[in-house]
Amino acid sequence: MFDYHMHTRVSFDGSDSGARMAKAALDKGLKEICFTDHIDYDPLAKEQTMAFDTAAYNAEYEGLELPGLKIRRGMEFGMDLTNLSQFKQDLRRRPFDFVLGSVHFVDDVDVYYESYWAGKTQFQAERRFLEQTLACVELHEDFDVLAHLSFISKAWSNPSKRLLPYEEHRQIVDEILKVLVRKDKGLEMNTSGVDRCGGFLPTREYFCRFRELGGRIVTVGSDAHNSGRVGQYTHEACEILRDIFGYVCTFEGRKPIFHRL
Ligand SMILES: [Zn+2]
Ligand SMILES: [Zn+2]
Repeated sequence: MFDYHMHTRVSFDGSDSGARMAKAALDKGLKEICFTDHIDYDPLAKEQTMAFDTAAYNAEYEGLELPGLKIRRGMEFGMDLTNLSQFKQDLRRRPFDFVLGSVHFVDDVDVYYESYWAGKTQFQAERRFLEQTLACVELHEDFDVLAHLSFISKAWSNPSKRLLPYEEHRQIVDEILKVLVRKDKGLEMNTSGVDRCGGFLPTREYFCRFRELGGRIVTVGSDAHNSGRVGQYTHEACEILRDIFGYVCTFEGRKPIFHRL
């Protein structure tokens, strides 16, 4: 199995070494992993810079090998409407196998925190997040796969933690998926929502719709920030993707590889 979304101590919010995460992956029977450390910029620079140091990244993973486990090097870029050139610059830091595009900030606020939710209904908070996501996938080209389309569900300050209901947001979700299809970008099934919200981010029906619309690239990631969560629920996620697509993707040098399940 594969885990294509995880953070080590190279990320501002990760805790374990690359070697420890890789060992955990091998112990859990995974065949291939990809490190996807954060490159995120707080638009208001109120917090620490959430972008990894390239020297630390290289030192952590250079020469890291484990027989029986394929290890790829990627990153998770926090897309925003103002960081297109920053993104291009960051891609020159080193060669990456895989780039996840994420949305963590909306209107210059981290959706994880209270200030984003203040004054919004549940529906408005979800809708605004999806509007930002649509604008970001329209604007950006340099990512391979959109990470956690329904990230908003697991935001710390989300009062309901409900899984994003496709029916309520059908029109805008379809627009996002259509942009991904048109640009031949992928959709990630992020398993970190299972414990937090009771389901994958996003759920099965989003992948069925993605397929209907012509989507072909799909990946699975735990979004683990410590070795205990590496590979968690990725087997279950792959079973769903097997039913819908018959395969799951990994990447090498930014090119998708399709693995029949
Ligand atoms: Zn993320
Ligand atoms: Zn992540």
